[in-house]
Amino acid sequence: MTDALPAILLSRLLDDSMDAVIIIDDHCHIRYLNGAMQKLSGYGGGELLGQDLDGLLPDSLGAHHTAYVNGYIEANRVSSVLGKVRTFAIRHRDGHLIPIEMKSIDLGHIGGRRYFGAFMLDVRAQRAMEEKNASLLAQLEQQAMCDALTGLPNRRAFEAAAAQAQARIARSSAPLTVGVADIDHFKSINDQYGHAAGDAVLRAVSQAIREAGRLTDMAARLGGEEFGLLFPDATLEQAVQIAQRVRRAVAATRTTAPDGTPLAVTISIGLAKLAPGGSFDGALSDADKALYRAKHGGRDRVATAPLPHEAKAAPLATP
Ligand code: GH3
Ligand code: MG
Ligand code: MG
Repeated sequence: MTDALPAILLSRLLDDSMDAVIIIDDHCHIRYLNGAMQKLSGYGGGELLGQDLDGLLPDSLGAHHTAYVNGYIEANRVSSVLGKVRTFAIRHRDGHLIPIEMKSIDLGHIGGRRYFGAFMLDVRAQRAMEEKNASLLAQLEQQAMCDALTGLPNRRAFEAAAAQAQARIARSSAPLTVGVADIDHFKSINDQYGHAAGDAVLRAVSQAIREAGRLTDMAARLGGEEFGLLFPDATLEQAVQIAQRVRRAVAATRTTAPDGTPLAVTISIGLAKLAPGGSFDGALSDADKALYRAKHGGRDRVATAPLPHEAKAAPLATP
């Protein structure tokens, strides 16, 4: 038969455990703490031995802890803490709180006293990692919905916003209009002044669209020099008014070319009504057809689908 291990081995094992270990008696006085517990709490072993555990606990917990332990002992209550891994915090010597995972154990009666022990694991690194991951995830989600060049929502975000707006109008029967805007003769900007100047124009146009349509509407970059517009709660006629404002704001925007020339562009906009329960792709395709008509009607104008509501552009602001 194997000899029983000397108890000193177990206590050495506890002394050197990576988990912080503490033992308290039935008066909630600290009777043992290992090296990891000293390190975690910032106290030397001698400082805490015989002291009340409450000093190591956050104020909210410390005020009730002794009463809780006494109640548990006297009433022989089932503990919601003992034997389970719970998240708590302990107070470091310098006052700050350290989040921990703790498993506390009823060690039973020995020599007429009752003892409780606990293993504590510092979860700060784990928490920091979780927070970092959550913030990275939020950043990725944001990037996945955002156009990198212009900062506008991208096509995916546009489709999601349209689906949300559609769900809303299905309940309220409010009107909803969608639009497609396209920069006129944009290729010539690239050809004449270079791609970087084209990018700068795209950014300036995006900002003008966002600001002019800002109050209730959503603008997104669908790709290239094409933008999606969403006008929740706007009839086709109301959307025309907003779209004209957006169109005028773009025409009034200036970007400086590398050679110092002020660059001006115009946009054409097609609008279509999205009926409750109607197809978003269908409405977008109607808006595209209206855009085509705006282009063929001379550009720098707003056109609507269905046909009768064509809205002519205001006279061109001189570039
Ligand atoms: P229209 O009035 O008929 O719309 O003429 P357009 O020149 O604007 O249209 P076209 O489709 O011929 O050309 C679009 C140009 O947009 C071509 C493409 O190089 C440019 N473009 C698309 N995406 C970007 C971009 O991210 N940056 C830059 N600088 N140019 C882009
Ligand atoms: Mg174009
Ligand atoms: Mg285009």
